Amino acid sequence: MLHSNLSVNENHHLTLCGADTAELAKKYGTPLYLLDETRVREKCRTYQRAMKTYFSPEARPLYASKALSFKGIYRLAKEEGMAVDVVSPGELYIALSAGMNPADIYFHGNAKTMADIRYAMDAGIGYFVADNKTELARISDYAKEKGIMQKVLLRITPGIDPHTFDAVNTGKVDSKFGSAIATGQAEEIFNYARSQAGIELCGFHCHIGSQIFDEKPFCDAADLMLTFMVGLRDKYGYTAKVLNLGGGIGVRYVESDPYIDIDDTLRLVGAHLHKICEETGYPMPQILMEPGRSLVADAGVTLYEVQNVKTITGYKSYAAIDGGMTDNPRYALYGSKYTVLLANRADEEADFTCTVAGRCCESGDLIGENMLLPKPNAGDILAVLVTGAYNYAMASNYNCIPKLPIVMIADGKDTLAVRRETYEDMIACQL
Ligand SMILES: *Cc1c(COP(=O)(O)O)cnc(C)c1O
Repeated sequence: MLHSNLSVNENHHLTLCGADTAELAKKYGTPLYLLDETRVREKCRTYQRAMKTYFSPEARPLYASKALSFKGIYRLAKEEGMAVDVVSPGELYIALSAGMNPADIYFHGNAKTMADIRYAMDAGIGYFVADNKTELARISDYAKEKGIMQKVLLRITPGIDPHTFDAVNTGKVDSKFGSAIATGQAEEIFNYARSQAGIELCGFHCHIGSQIFDEKPFCDAADLMLTFMVGLRDKYGYTAKVLNLGGGIGVRYVESDPYIDIDDTLRLVGAHLHKICEETGYPMPQILMEPGRSLVADAGVTLYEVQNVKTITGYKSYAAIDGGMTDNPRYALYGSKYTVLLANRADEEADFTCTVAGRCCESGDLIGENMLLPKPNAGDILAVLVTGAYNYAMASNYNCIPKLPIVMIADGKDTLAVRRETYEDMIACQL
């Protein structure tokens, strides 16, 4: 199986974290998101252990909660001692509702409104990751009004292309995020931040992209960021306390994707960081990283019921399911690849090629093309693997389709964490 939390039981059913997925489809109905809580907790612990061991005892992973944002995941993050980053006041609201300590929350985004800034600062947020001068001026003004010093990291663009798909590539110089070292604008915004009375500048942040499968891009980013920081120390006598290296560790969606060992990757990045700090005499900053996808993606499986199978004579076959781009828009958006199987016939040979199509009135509403399955029948349960990240988080109500529930599974036991949206929920805001 693609990941070690997946297996097939004696009834030929797919299991996730030991739970029979076909039985869960019966119990909760379809379509349905499952999330292996045990897996997410293991990943949190791996990141924490590795970062504290290989970087320094102060190092900390922040869960990039845009990947999957609901109360239960913030509660889990809190229990695991994780800090989180949020990209909107909505995510902040949910994190606070789940009882997270605001001091453990970092606020990202390239277009924060004045209302966002006030809300976050009134809530006592730990850090802003500031993107631009206008934002810095707004933060400083409001901090002065409140009589506080607001902790801030600056988002810097180191100018790295980690060779991933362009739409999820943010470390290059012409990115909409942050200030580039190469153009001199990073130094400029550093000076600007230091001139703002309400701001305590704690350090720097970069995020170079997603689906990165080896340590090299992180080492390159660390090189560029530390070279920049050493330059500021030598020129202005400023030493940063914090260096945030962002997220982006890759996840295996299909058999042909590479596998990345998180512990080993962080060990290599850590060794590299210690080497640069020794060579330059720069004190090791508190290193932060922001895993999103790699914490939750392979903990997720989506279950659908097959509604019909249509073969267009001489062309191709479609298997139509009771969900689609409203619960997983990633194929429609990016052409992202997924692995599918039949949860109730999980060990049958997959010798039928088809396009898995969603139920929306939109030809592009597909889960994937040329996918291999045992020939499906109406009523079979189709499982899409590795849907824990950027599925629920990106779900919509297009065609007025209600959002799916999330069932969490811990040590084989299932608990409803998000209930299925109702038609009443959908019209709750409509006057
Ligand atoms: C999206 C994002 C992340 C998480 O990226 P993953 O690929 O999900 O690990 C981390 N930091 C920032 C700033 C992001 O925008």
